[in-house]
Amino acid sequence: MPKLVYDFAEGDKDLMDLLGGKGANLAEMARLGLPVPPGFTITTEACRVYLAEGREPAGLRDAVGGHLAGLEAQAGRTLGRSDDPLLVSVRSGARFSMPGMMDTVLNIGLNDASVAGLAARTGDERFAWDSYRRLIQMFGKTVLGVPGEPFEEALDKAKRDRGVTGDVELGTGDLKVLAAEFKDIIRGATGAPFPQDPRMQLDMAVRAVFDSWNGERARIYRRRERIPDDLGTAVNIMAMVFGNLGMDSGTGVAFTRDPATGRTGVYGDYLQNAQGEDVVAGIRNTVPLDELEHIDKRSYDRLLQIMKTLEDHYRDLCDIEFTIERGKLWMLQTRVGKRTAEAAFPIAVQLADQGLIGMDEAVARVGGDQLGRLMFPRFHAGPRARRIAAGIAASPGAAVGVAVFDSQTAVRRARDGERVVLVRRETAPDDLGGMIAAEGILTSRGGKTSHAAVVARGMGTACVCGAEDLDVDTVRRRFTGPGGVVVAEGDVISVDGSSGAVYLGELPVVPSPVVRYFEGGLDPEGPEAGDLVKAVHRIMSRADAVRRLAVRANADTPDDAARARRFGAQGIGLCRTEHMFLGERRVHVERLILAGTDAERERALAALLPLQRGDFTAILEAMDGLPVTVRLLDPPLHEFLPDFTELSVRVALAEARGEPSEHDRRLLAAVRRLHEQNPMLGLRGVRLGLVVPGLFGMQVRAFAEAAAACAGAGLHPRGEIMIPLVAAVQELEAVRADAQRVLAEVAAETGVPLDMPIGTMIELPRAALTAGRIAEAAQFFSFGTNDLTQTTWGFSRDDVEGAFFAPYLDKGIFSVSPFETLDRAGVGRLVEIAVAEGRARRPDLGLGVCGEHAGDPASVRYLHEVGVDYVSCSPFRVPIARLEAARAALGETAGDTR
Ligand code: ADP
Ligand code: MG
Ligand code: MG
Repeated sequence: MPKLVYDFAEGDKDLMDLLGGKGANLAEMARLGLPVPPGFTITTEACRVYLAEGREPAGLRDAVGGHLAGLEAQAGRTLGRSDDPLLVSVRSGARFSMPGMMDTVLNIGLNDASVAGLAARTGDERFAWDSYRRLIQMFGKTVLGVPGEPFEEALDKAKRDRGVTGDVELGTGDLKVLAAEFKDIIRGATGAPFPQDPRMQLDMAVRAVFDSWNGERARIYRRRERIPDDLGTAVNIMAMVFGNLGMDSGTGVAFTRDPATGRTGVYGDYLQNAQGEDVVAGIRNTVPLDELEHIDKRSYDRLLQIMKTLEDHYRDLCDIEFTIERGKLWMLQTRVGKRTAEAAFPIAVQLADQGLIGMDEAVARVGGDQLGRLMFPRFHAGPRARRIAAGIAASPGAAVGVAVFDSQTAVRRARDGERVVLVRRETAPDDLGGMIAAEGILTSRGGKTSHAAVVARGMGTACVCGAEDLDVDTVRRRFTGPGGVVVAEGDVISVDGSSGAVYLGELPVVPSPVVRYFEGGLDPEGPEAGDLVKAVHRIMSRADAVRRLAVRANADTPDDAARARRFGAQGIGLCRTEHMFLGERRVHVERLILAGTDAERERALAALLPLQRGDFTAILEAMDGLPVTVRLLDPPLHEFLPDFTELSVRVALAEARGEPSEHDRRLLAAVRRLHEQNPMLGLRGVRLGLVVPGLFGMQVRAFAEAAAACAGAGLHPRGEIMIPLVAAVQELEAVRADAQRVLAEVAAETGVPLDMPIGTMIELPRAALTAGRIAEAAQFFSFGTNDLTQTTWGFSRDDVEGAFFAPYLDKGIFSVSPFETLDRAGVGRLVEIAVAEGRARRPDLGLGVCGEHAGDPASVRYLHEVGVDYVSCSPFRVPIARLEAARAALGETAGDTR
């Protein structure tokens, strides 16, 4: 039987899978000799067995008993013994941190008898009863599933009766009464008394923690963070230490540097005479951590020293939970802390400069998603901006949306397509749905470590918290700011998570400094560049040096091409030609479609030729010296014709007026003729090239002439011709022969030798499955992973995403849309077959990817592994692909920046 329970002394930080993050790090801190209360950890394996079989694995009870005996020996006390009880906490802790998403129960071991023993030992009766009422409340809520409100109401009533506002002002007598009331609430709700047997309390709490893995909050969080559902949670059982033993005690949280900016310093919150969650719950006002220096200098100095030890040891920003019990400091938790994208880059570079990590590791520690977040625009607060409040800049970003005051409304309005900002006094785990739906989060209470701040940073959502000037009235759905300004539900506000400012109305935005840097408008060595831009520059420079995968861009216009080049694109992997047929040029396409004779058709093509040549010339110029892959016309022809219904109405009206238009009538007939039930699978791509004589030939000629002209002007054009939607090599052979003939003609006419590779998209399963044959006629493949995903899954993207992707994600059919991240098992298998068989037939076959997946971090890493030569994504995502290509090259460990 596997070992189900580990003492803290037996574990270390490398056992995260088994002990969870919290357990492994507690063990690690214990190994480092830091003051951790003694305890042990039940493994995630035990949880998985429990979840699968619906009962605790055999042997767990005994194993817990054995370790509990050891803990009791170490502590010199017995769990729940009436004269001098050992109390423990029972804490959840999974492989990946899920703050506040699962359950923890404190003060296990108290009962009607041991509460007196605790009072006697500590000489503090009030404290003992405070701890007992906390246990009954927490146990009732989390273990027994009793709703929280009656407890809250009883507590509020007790305070009202006493005429006090804070819990700490309640006396021993009040707490005794409360404990009795709480027990009644439990009996009333469950029909059974609050369990008095300490071991029974312990076992029930362990089971509740196991169950909390599948609680709703936890599931929503996992889906959003892409944490697998089958990992299970570990359970940590540790001796209680008490921050609620008076003003010389307290509890706090801290970061080893600022998680919002990366700056070093003292960041955290402390609350005197408090236990557990009090500090983040926003119930009472915390003090900034540096004030602890005046409250308890010895503990403060020791804490700073420990924080340094932890940072040096983990070689990263750590966040910690600690408690001071009568002047003695205890470490209750640490982990490599979450941070904003703004902080991640500077921190990685600082750690490298300190020699704690190398530059390669610095690259591995930041991710494409984070870089993407840095490229969002920022607010530009002009002189007329109406600033209504300032709070704590808890999570950067510029959010504009309508104010909403509860989670459900946020979810509903966001689903209806509105941008919303969730405004709360403070947030609680129940608000998670609304926080995910919101563009921004605004609270009037709580600090940098409040629930709102922590969750928002984790999600990369803009957040301002602790805007204390605001009076948030969730019942009347409005808030009031200084000077009486009132914002009601539905009013637009702008929330600047980078500065903490809140504005009335919608503020204009400007490009982020990181984008200005990529655009070449901000010198990373210059005085104007801040730490962030400097750090991004250093990381990107290193990334470009280590990556193997080339990055190109999908660009259809000279402007896009130029921008892509500034962003670091090494060519164009996909230049779509369809937009070149729109606008004023549509008439030529109409003529082409309506052409009754060869002569008419040739005239229409001849009119398009110079326009197309002009487009290609400008793009080749913008990408001079780099490859430009032009895809011949792909979409169905009816996309270039008027809408059927509109046109029918026009024709009918004209006829009713007695002035029929011959042109419109012919057009209507063409629209009818070209109508398709399923255009995605109809007459498009190479099929068009084969049935509309001269169309592809005209495009090839335009491209060839443009290249010849550029070469004649002393440039170095590197055109590549790409045929879309090929399913059979015969299609490609036919089109290719034609293209080669045109290239030879143009070369002869211009005297410029034209060496333009001709290749194909691989975007149909049949193409992938016959890739060996197709490679005989193709010099390169470019995987069109959008269409390949559609055709592999049989999904019409536009139809399915809105219709049923939400329930599919809910039911776990897939954990992320296959249009977002490449589906390795299915679509990926086709890609792998095509890569292997294509290369086997033609060793120098070029291989690229031009679907949207080429800009998705996880997909880029996969495509690196598969061995393609380049990915081609939208210009804006080029830096993201560059970074992820480097992280892929640096190794598999670079996968996780959660
Ligand atoms: P979460 O994972 O939601 O942070 P924790 O397991 O860390 O939950 O526990 C909740 C709170 O209780 C934290 O503030 C933690 O520091 C505190 N706590 C947990 N165990 C103990 C203990 N043995 N003694 C004192 N406080 C504890
Ligand atoms: Mg914690
Ligand atoms: Mg396609």
